[in-house]
Amino acid sequence: MIKKIGVIGAGQMGAGIAHVAALAGFDVVLSDITTKLAEAGKAVIAKNMDRQVKKETISEADRDAALGRVLTTADNQNFKDCDIVIEAATENLELKLKILAEVCKVLPKETLLASNTSSISITRLGAVTDRPEKFMGMHFMNPVPIMKLVELIPGIATDKETFETVKSLAEKMGKTPTVSNDVPGFLANRILMPMINEAIYTLYEGVGTVEAIDTTMRLGTNQPMGPLTLADFIGLDTCLAIMQVLYDGFSDSKYRPCPLLVKYVEAGWLGRKSGKGFYDYSGDDPVPTR
Ligand code: NAD
Repeated sequence: MIKKIGVIGAGQMGAGIAHVAALAGFDVVLSDITTKLAEAGKAVIAKNMDRQVKKETISEADRDAALGRVLTTADNQNFKDCDIVIEAATENLELKLKILAEVCKVLPKETLLASNTSSISITRLGAVTDRPEKFMGMHFMNPVPIMKLVELIPGIATDKETFETVKSLAEKMGKTPTVSNDVPGFLANRILMPMINEAIYTLYEGVGTVEAIDTTMRLGTNQPMGPLTLADFIGLDTCLAIMQVLYDGFSDSKYRPCPLLVKYVEAGWLGRKSGKGFYDYSGDDPVPTR
């Protein structure tokens, strides 16, 4: 039975996962490189819960109780009594391998481990742990409090009990799970990311402006958000990392990351989280940067 959930990484996704877990009644340990970063993640949770209180989807008492269940830390020792730890740090293979190997040192052998990776091989991540049978992918969507889906990705070694426990956890968090095989990009990003990359290519080649591309896809294909707006929302570094995993994983040139995406990331234009990407977010309304 899962009662206490650890979340590694207090960025957009980690904070979102902690938010939903705490509201669902779980105790949460939220960590980042420093306590200050973990606290910043908790401050985002508080802000987003305030919005829910205003919309009357939760009460003030729900918010206060949920926030009271979130402990922020930079010390793995605080994961010792967690029933599952979900890794949601930056999308980087080496970093994730290091984080997972480190955290295993403090976890009791029955603790489950999951990764929120968007694209990296679950089997490969699991192999660095001391419990590959208790490890799997639990891929939440951004923003976690709003998006209903969780992709479940068992690795080759994941056992049935782990899968069933994580599936029921996703449901207890109010999400609808789907199951995907452990191949690069799984399902969601295998389909979504090449579309975003192609949208960036159309910008790169001058086929249309930022606004024309987003409006075409919004009004022409009924997407709630154009692909460039969505890329900014996801984070351009994350988009690039996912394209690299698809490109390397399939050795197929159709997944080549657009050079313009690479340039934006090199410039530190990472989208909403850095204030600038395909749009500039410093004013009241986003303004295209090209
Ligand atoms: P982010 O940049 O907002 O947050 C990453 C966080 O990880 C940062 O706060 C960073 O300080 C922290 N971190 C880095 N190294 C760490 C370490 N050693 N220990 C603890 N924390 C560490 O990124 P994000 O959008 O939250 O993405 C996190 C993960 O979720 C990635 O694997 C990404 O692929 C995945 N994901 C992202 C989205 C999305 O739309 N952004 C959707 C689904 C899954």
